[in-house]
Amino acid sequence: MDSRKMIGFGFLRKCGAGVMHLFVVTMCLGLSMCNIYGAHYAVLSNAPTWLKIMILPLYYYLVVNYFAAYMQAVFSDPGRPPKNPEDSLTTRCQKCNHIKPERTHHCSVCNQCCMKYDHHCPWVANCVGLKNYGYFIKFLVTGLIASSLSLLIEILALFSSKFCTHCTTTTRTLSAILCLTFSACSVMCCAMMFFSHVPYLKSNQTTVESYDNDFDKRQAKKNGLNYEYPYDRGLKKNLEEVFGPKVILSWLVPFWRNVLQVDGLGYVNCKNNKL
Ligand SMILES: [Zn+2]
Ligand SMILES: [Zn+2]
Repeated sequence: MDSRKMIGFGFLRKCGAGVMHLFVVTMCLGLSMCNIYGAHYAVLSNAPTWLKIMILPLYYYLVVNYFAAYMQAVFSDPGRPPKNPEDSLTTRCQKCNHIKPERTHHCSVCNQCCMKYDHHCPWVANCVGLKNYGYFIKFLVTGLIASSLSLLIEILALFSSKFCTHCTTTTRTLSAILCLTFSACSVMCCAMMFFSHVPYLKSNQTTVESYDNDFDKRQAKKNGLNYEYPYDRGLKKNLEEVFGPKVILSWLVPFWRNVLQVDGLGYVNCKNNKL
């Protein structure tokens, strides 16, 4: 018997990924709870009624939309290839032996293939691919808006000495430092991740594909040619491929289920169409 199998490297690897996921997901939820604490208990609970009526419904709508998108990104099928496809696809993954349609990649953390694979995200403890990329982007954007609002509320309260007025001076100082740090961290993390995905969203690329596309683009430039991304169908259709045809509703309604028009077995290849 293979000695690697005997001592259970596969099991240890799974445990390692499990511990990493648990740590990062707990951190993500912890940061979110600190933001809610900072905005609600430390500031808004002491605010005048008119301000509470104006801000609280908007703030909690954002929070619910954020948690809904997060749960959908974590628990959705990211787009595993079907076991018995109708089309007789012959290409198979050498690592898991599943069928491998175009734009499919094998995730070494999950040890499974994922269609339109973008990356494996420890923040959502899941692959990010064809079916949950929209939820992942919505999680980043709602997280960015909610944590920015938390930060703004906390800064305004701090400058007007309304921060945690029911606390002792020590608790107030500690709460202010922690809340502002956590909110600023959340804003930075969400902003960095979201803005790195904007060019991919616009041009219908995945993170994995962008490496090859960037290389091909440089090569084409050297040869005086104009490189076109193969799957770029224009902004509207690119967004519909990620969020489904009802893009606005998918953003506004918490737990909205994106119904995609692509099944992941084939894509419109704009480059081929133009030839
Ligand atoms: Zn595979
Ligand atoms: Zn994965």
